[in-house]
Amino acid sequence: MNLKDFKSETIIEPFRIRSVEPIRFTTMDERKKLLRDAGYNPFLLKAKNVLIDLLTDSGTGALSAAQWSGMIASDESYAGSESFYRFEAAVQDITGFKHVIPTHQGRAAENILFTTIAKKGDVIPNNTHFDTTRAHVEHNGAVALDLVIDEGKQPQTIHPFKGNMNTDKLEAVIKEYGRDKIPAIMLTTTNNSGGGQPVSMENVKEVSSIARKHKIPFYIDACRFAENSWFIRMREKGYEEKTPIEIAKEMFSYADGCTMSAKKDGMSNIGGFLALNDDELAKKSRSLTILTEGFPTYGGMAGYDMEAVAIGLYESLDEGYLRYRIRSTAYLGEKLSNAGISIVQPTGGHAVYIDARQMLPHIPSLQYPAWSLSNALYLTGGIRAVEIGSVMFGLQPDGTEKPAEMELVRLAIPRRVYTQSHVDYLAEAVIHTYHQSDQLKGYKVISEPAVLRHFSARLEPIE
Ligand SMILES: *Cc1c(COP(=O)(O)O)cnc(C)c1O
Repeated sequence: MNLKDFKSETIIEPFRIRSVEPIRFTTMDERKKLLRDAGYNPFLLKAKNVLIDLLTDSGTGALSAAQWSGMIASDESYAGSESFYRFEAAVQDITGFKHVIPTHQGRAAENILFTTIAKKGDVIPNNTHFDTTRAHVEHNGAVALDLVIDEGKQPQTIHPFKGNMNTDKLEAVIKEYGRDKIPAIMLTTTNNSGGGQPVSMENVKEVSSIARKHKIPFYIDACRFAENSWFIRMREKGYEEKTPIEIAKEMFSYADGCTMSAKKDGMSNIGGFLALNDDELAKKSRSLTILTEGFPTYGGMAGYDMEAVAIGLYESLDEGYLRYRIRSTAYLGEKLSNAGISIVQPTGGHAVYIDARQMLPHIPSLQYPAWSLSNALYLTGGIRAVEIGSVMFGLQPDGTEKPAEMELVRLAIPRRVYTQSHVDYLAEAVIHTYHQSDQLKGYKVISEPAVLRHFSARLEPIE
């Protein structure tokens, strides 16, 4: 026999399924009523009435058999538990940082970091602050500056690393404010708020060398560090032969610390950490952890959560997993753009973003085109997406409204949860909606809270 090597075109899910969770089918009439009862706000739907839930990729992933077995063998001691030491060893191995402070999720790590380092009048440069990061910077009186490259703000522009920071702008900011007003420089990898777009190693190095030159600490918001490593391997010269863990280790080696939400590339349902090299800062951070999270060897997590993260961090760096993960997101993006739907290009790691302004030119921004599309996806296919547009960003502190920069609908893909046929169904439903887009109506707000209104506002279609 002389069989040729087989390299399949199809990238299959690199797992088989042994525990299943039924999803519930509803009729369009049922969904019309459910959505009306939810004030036309997908956040207010009960999850059991959603067929495919793409609200977020945060904490919604499937655990592996290895994670479950680690969780059963966890140590729930209040202080000094074995589960903590396994967690600490995994974080130290991958990041190289000396001190590891567990937290219940990413924003808790941000709270500890910024309460410790930032004060009124300071500025924090980042490629793009994620909303919780911005909130913690601002809560401590500092100003959050977004310095992503211009390409990162143009949905249709193709660029391999749209998450990169504009280093000329960074130098200008340091010159303008002076190093004493800049307690840290941050890079978010991948850049969540900018469409899950990666940052190149070259950019990480450049930002790091600017930070070192000015003696400013450099932190990474590492929530999707594994996906970012995969993009570097696929797109950056010199990294084709490197493993994702080697790339991740190199990236962290240029920084002084990181904040992490284990609900993303920690492959866990809850958890996070702050990791850093500075002894003095670690001491202060641990004191604050005791106050707000718990004893520093559990930091708001159960022992079994720390086990899940310790194992999950390595699983997120598995080549087979990353190839499938990034390919399945791109696969959805290709299906939609081949049908003529305008999406943020190229697709990022964890989500596909549809440009609703393009799809629904007849709906003005302040009648919320992206909200309208997101509701139509639920009515059509039982799909829950999230609006990233004028409902989320339009309400100003003085109570007036202004259109958001972009009107996007984000389809975030939970990790290891949906199969290719789910994605095929999803694409069909989106394309079906697109072909009837002239039927979609704008919305008006009926009631809303003063801040973060998208979570609880009630709306109504404009007939
Ligand atoms: C999710 C996220 C956070 C916050 O993490 P939580 O676990 O949700 O508190 C911070 N930064 C980025 C880039 C994120 O995606």
